Amino acid sequence: MKLPYYKRRYAIMALVSLLLLAVPFIKINGNHIFLLSFDHKKLNLLGVAFDAQELYPLPFLLIFLFLFVFAVTTLGGRVWCGWACPQTIFRVVYRDLIEGKILGLHRRANRQKQIDYSKKINVLKKIAAILIWAVLSIVAAIDFSWYFVPPEDFFVYIQDPSSHKVLIGMISIVAFLIAFVVMRLGETFCGLLCPYVRVQSSMYDRDTIYTIYDEKRGGVIYKDGAKIGKKPLGKDDECIGCEACVAICPTHIDIRKGLQLECINCLECADACSKAMDKMGKPSLINWISARESQGLGKTRYLRFRTIAYGVMLTFIMSALLIIGSSKESMLLNITKSNRPYKVEKVNELFRVSNDYIFLFTNTGDKGNNFYFEVDGLDGVKIATPRKPFWIDSKGSSQEIVVLYTEDNLAKAATDTQLKMNIRAYAVDDENITVTREAIFTFPAESAFK
Ligand code: SF4
Ligand code: SF4
Repeated sequence: MKLPYYKRRYAIMALVSLLLLAVPFIKINGNHIFLLSFDHKKLNLLGVAFDAQELYPLPFLLIFLFLFVFAVTTLGGRVWCGWACPQTIFRVVYRDLIEGKILGLHRRANRQKQIDYSKKINVLKKIAAILIWAVLSIVAAIDFSWYFVPPEDFFVYIQDPSSHKVLIGMISIVAFLIAFVVMRLGETFCGLLCPYVRVQSSMYDRDTIYTIYDEKRGGVIYKDGAKIGKKPLGKDDECIGCEACVAICPTHIDIRKGLQLECINCLECADACSKAMDKMGKPSLINWISARESQGLGKTRYLRFRTIAYGVMLTFIMSALLIIGSSKESMLLNITKSNRPYKVEKVNELFRVSNDYIFLFTNTGDKGNNFYFEVDGLDGVKIATPRKPFWIDSKGSSQEIVVLYTEDNLAKAATDTQLKMNIRAYAVDDENITVTREAIFTFPAESAFK
């Protein structure tokens, strides 16, 4: 007998849980793999730090995640729900591990049996389960908070809770929601409240693999939605009516009725049927299979228009994210020209034309630097102020009043001329930190010099 699905599922769930706990601690070049810090107004993605003004990778990331889940659904049905969704993992930990395995309140093979609360010991066990899960809900909420408040800050903040009431409040709310959804709503959440369930069926096609009862072999159990009986009526029908598949189902459905909204693709019913049919030397009547293969219409086509289209889109977005990350500017510069287009004055018998600007410099790097700038692409334009480089702390900004001037005759025209130039700002002590922006120098009409 092959390794049961539930063992493979538990292994994947353990891996996902470890990953979710570990990610907030993993850093590349001093930056997190993922961090959306409202506190420091920054985004860390794959080890690259983005400032609050540079959140453009975020929509790409969200689109990537949505498309990834859609692609996985098209290929493997609600495999995300049954195998990796935190809600399902929480339910497995709470119901199967704590209530079932540790406290012995029920058996995994029969999830439909209610706990007998007439026995005092069961009441005490239930209270113990609630307390254990309450603690684990707080742990899960804290782990969730680390994606927004990194662990290195969190452990400092938590030593002074009275100054961080918002953080404590958010963790308490998230912990309460986790505890309520897991202990009170259970799988009802997956079938009725989760928004993903509303759209997932539109992603299925004939080649999507999902949990299917083989009606041809097993026999008809439901006719026009009504149950005929535990067992099918035909003498060659293989389903023995043991209902092990129904008893084990965490969402309390009978897969022999066909695809249902509540089915989370956990394949526990397939394991149960494998066990039952194994005793008769027959293969399971419930399989993770496509409708095409189940109906004997040929092999499942994994490479088809939808899956290829998802693959192309995911590759495109991932490439865009990598390009954004690698071409990220290590400083920011915003240039605003003042309302007065120019000033003309006579200095040492020469006409001097000056333009005023406000330059906003932001140092997005991890250390402070001295910054300055130069004018490129327009000969004759010089810097009047500021005269010297200026210091900006890491993550700090500096607003500089900038005056550029020329004593050359840059244009001979009857009207004012807008001349393009480049401003190259840079860190004086680090040649890798530089950014270039286009700006306009307004040169007056000839009449201004008379
Ligand atoms: S029908 Fe089977 S696969 Fe679907 S939720 Fe129930 S046990 Fe899991
Ligand atoms: S476990 Fe298999 S044999 Fe038993 S009732 Fe379900 S489908 Fe029929």
